[in-house]
Amino acid sequence: MATTFSSVDKSSDLVKDYCCGACKSRSIEEIAEIYCETCLKCFCGKCIYHHSQLYADHITYGRGDINKWPITKKMEDFLYKCEIHKDKKLKMFCKDHSQPCCTNCAFLNHRLCKEVTLISESRKTNLSDLHELSYKIKTILKELKNLHNTKQTIFQAVEGSYSKRLQEVRDVRQKINSALDKLEMATLKELDDVRTSLQADLKTDVENYNKLMDDLELLSEAVQELADRRIGEMAFIASRKCLDKIKESQVYLKKTSLKFDNSIASKANTDIEQYLNKQFGIGKILHRAVQGNANHPFTVTKKCEYDLKIPTDGRYS
Ligand SMILES: [Zn+2]
Ligand SMILES: [Zn+2]
Ligand SMILES: [Zn+2]
Ligand SMILES: [Zn+2]
Repeated sequence: MATTFSSVDKSSDLVKDYCCGACKSRSIEEIAEIYCETCLKCFCGKCIYHHSQLYADHITYGRGDINKWPITKKMEDFLYKCEIHKDKKLKMFCKDHSQPCCTNCAFLNHRLCKEVTLISESRKTNLSDLHELSYKIKTILKELKNLHNTKQTIFQAVEGSYSKRLQEVRDVRQKINSALDKLEMATLKELDDVRTSLQADLKTDVENYNKLMDDLELLSEAVQELADRRIGEMAFIASRKCLDKIKESQVYLKKTSLKFDNSIASKANTDIEQYLNKQFGIGKILHRAVQGNANHPFTVTKKCEYDLKIPTDGRYS
């Protein structure tokens, strides 16, 4: 959600809204520079030149004498417009309610009021009253602008603290990631060590097997050849070796069959996952409540610290 604090300055539109009457008759919108009191018309820089050539004796006023210019149509509409009945003009004044009203308002809301008169008949406003009102409005505008500026500062402070907290959350997350990476590395190293050790055992086993097979095959051939030739001394050695190898083979068979279940087993540490599932967040976000009054526009009434550390006892402090 994007919120912006742009300054709105619509009041100037009402003053700027003087258009050249001559240009307007040719459907051109041009800002007026001069007001002719004799013609009761405004003119732009180009048109006033022609006007002056034709009517040298007319009384004219530039932007510097704007108070001599008439009230703009836009300003007039703004002042006369009834807030409730937008297409109606404020023409009456109810003294009972001390309120200007349009004919609709007078009919709907002031029928029973004792003194409802036409404004043109009864109302005269003192010039000094208007000056005082103008001063009051300017003071209020200044106060509102100051308040607006303060809010803008607060808005920026919120954005600033938001960015800081966001970074803190990400830092905590990064730390958890690093801690988990470390645990994963330790477990993987253990797994690798077990695998290396088991493979070394199996490699020795295969070497022993190959040697035994070679020896047994050679002895088998030797025994067959010697059986026909009856060579006493060699037959004795061969039979001795056969007995030894048979014994060795039997021991090997017995030992190897015991070692058949050599798969790697593991037991997952579910404590970490269970612990994380029990948590409500990576940190606890709190905000400062501020309240304003006339003397101290914004006073901190409640202040809470942010705590984004990983709790050590399963709870946030
Ligand atoms: Zn013009
Ligand atoms: Zn004129
Ligand atoms: Zn009305
Ligand atoms: Zn009334």
